[in-house]
Amino acid sequence: MDVSALAQSVIAGDRRALARAITLVESAREDHRAEARVLVAEVAKSGREALRIGLSGTPGVGKSTFIESFGCFLTGLGLRVAVLAVDPSSARSGGSILGDKTRMERLSRDPRAFIRPSPSQTHLGGVARRTREAVALCEGAGFDVVLIETVGVGQSETMVAEMCDLFLLLLAPAGGDELQGVKRGIMEMADIILVNKADGDLKPAALRTQADYAGALRLLRRRPQDPEGFPKALAVSALEENGLAQAWDEMERLTAWRRETGHWQRRRTEQARHWFEEEVRHSLLARLAREPLRGLMEGLGAAVGRGERTPDEAAAELLAHLGR
Ligand code: GDP
Repeated sequence: MDVSALAQSVIAGDRRALARAITLVESAREDHRAEARVLVAEVAKSGREALRIGLSGTPGVGKSTFIESFGCFLTGLGLRVAVLAVDPSSARSGGSILGDKTRMERLSRDPRAFIRPSPSQTHLGGVARRTREAVALCEGAGFDVVLIETVGVGQSETMVAEMCDLFLLLLAPAGGDELQGVKRGIMEMADIILVNKADGDLKPAALRTQADYAGALRLLRRRPQDPEGFPKALAVSALEENGLAQAWDEMERLTAWRRETGHWQRRRTEQARHWFEEEVRHSLLARLAREPLRGLMEGLGAAVGRGERTPDEAAAELLAHLGR
């Protein structure tokens, strides 16, 4: 494959080239990995930067409806929008609950939008890398906003938060007066909480929930990357397309502040380092799972089990083989 030509086509904004490029970075084949590496590095030379927005929420909260209406709102402003999904369920079961194009019919027909379903992978580490590279490809292709969607389970949202500039948490109106079982750690990751379905019969509950979260957020320790008043909770209706402009306003305000104060760049730098370290870890583990290290590990493990070697000794011997 002519990787340089593919990179140029991606940078030139050729959508089919972008789709092919993402397919390449999603492949686990060794030769594809080598090409993908060159491709991503080539595309990065464009120097373009998109606003990367992560969006998380449990199934049924309205993520696809929100992405559809918010995505169309953005393209209506003349912005180009790419949508990627990280779906941990596809890693576990092979079935995907995200990234289904038919869920976002209007947006998928929009020439300013690009939607890519979640890759099915055997483990989240692989998904992380591929999504990260897909984000980089979309940036190089000239998209202004890259939306990365994930469901609110397990590690996937931490992972998405590590690859975006802004992290949105989408919630449904709570039934009673208690906050939903949103874990504190996840609330602390959110830059903006959006309480969806603020329409019709649900509107009063949505406004109440929003006020509850606004109160809860005020109790959190102020993070250095936030100006006064952030993180904040807003009420929106993805269905009726209400509150989207205000939400976008807040996102722009937060982004502008972070750019001015250097937090934006600092965060990107930290993220790049984080992913470098993850990549090293991931590759080391992959090598341990392959021959000859795998056999060596099994043999040493058995020796440790029989009491012939100490765990430390055996580990040192194995690690000595890593450099070879
Ligand atoms: P996802 O699983 O998070 O992607 O949720 P969906 O976007 O598929 O929405 C789940 C259900 O909630 C669907 O029946 C939507 O029509 C409904 N829904 C989504 N957004 C809204 C909203 O703003 N208001 C109301 N009333 N219903 C909504």
